[in-house]
Amino acid sequence: MSNQQKVKKEENMAQIIDGKMISKQIKDELKEKVAELKAAGTEICLAVIQVGNDPASTVYVGNKKKACEYIGIKSLAYELPEETTEEELLQIIDKLNKDDSVNGILVQLPVPKQINDERIINAISPLKDVDGFSPASVGALSIGQKGFLSCTPAGIIELLKRSNIDIEGKECVVVGRSNIVGKPMAMLLLRENGTVTVCHSRTKNLKEVCKRADILVAAVGKPKMIDASYVKEGAVVIDVGIHRNENGKLCGDVDFESVEPLCSAITPVPGGVGPMTIAMLMNNCVEAGMNK
Ligand code: NDP
Repeated sequence: MSNQQKVKKEENMAQIIDGKMISKQIKDELKEKVAELKAAGTEICLAVIQVGNDPASTVYVGNKKKACEYIGIKSLAYELPEETTEEELLQIIDKLNKDDSVNGILVQLPVPKQINDERIINAISPLKDVDGFSPASVGALSIGQKGFLSCTPAGIIELLKRSNIDIEGKECVVVGRSNIVGKPMAMLLLRENGTVTVCHSRTKNLKEVCKRADILVAAVGKPKMIDASYVKEGAVVIDVGIHRNENGKLCGDVDFESVEPLCSAITPVPGGVGPMTIAMLMNNCVEAGMNK
């Protein structure tokens, strides 16, 4: 490649949004805040409940504990057996709801099938719902009231802001309408004054709709589904998906290789949205402690 070609390639290269670096910044800011709170006599405490031994859940719970340790948040681990009943879990939540020394309660999902996850989420006090999944938190977001934000979408907004990407007035397309990613993502983009379209499995002409996007958020749960044919030149592409291929390598919902040359900025997998989810969970815990 000639020098001129190299310069041209570099000019055309997308900004790789570094979620690992931004999440570290956020965790360091929180660490300082937590130290200040501690000096003033307030200790932040998160209760993390895992039912059963799902290996992916064990990794997620382990990462959350590590983040707590790094920031200086106390974490209480409840490792309950697979056969735990819904009633037993509800009793633990009730006890934690009433415990003034606990600021946040998190039940790692999925829970075993004898437990109804909706009833569990509803049982967590909205004041301690650091995952932001409860109807009270979701309702507060949709009517513009204060409440805990779902961590992955909140992390995406933070990624955009800290990468100096404006949302106001932009065409934002979210592919996926789940309660934990797609829907709260749409609400948050709207709150930032984006013009938002939400797509799902019944959307007609999905490619054309996605091609309208200045900011395209892929939360489809289908490995590499969003390729260059879905992306407008110069768009910002946020990949929420996490998949492991047959060789154990991680990939997202976006076909990074085909999309990266076309877009202006993109999140990689791993190292994009993933690390932000835990950073925002930690942020919610600190807020819970400050609101006490
Ligand atoms: P869900 O499976 O709950 O939702 C997927 C959504 O995509 C649904 O709304 C579904 O539509 C839609 N969809 C599925 N297939 C198509 C299609 N062919 N065309 C258009 N829309 C489609 O997934 P989640 O929202 O929980 O997660 C999405 C991805 O993000 C997953 O890969 C997950 O692993 C990852 N994830 C990553 C996190 C992180 O921290 N980085 C956190 C949470 C999730 P419909 O509603 O019609 O069925």
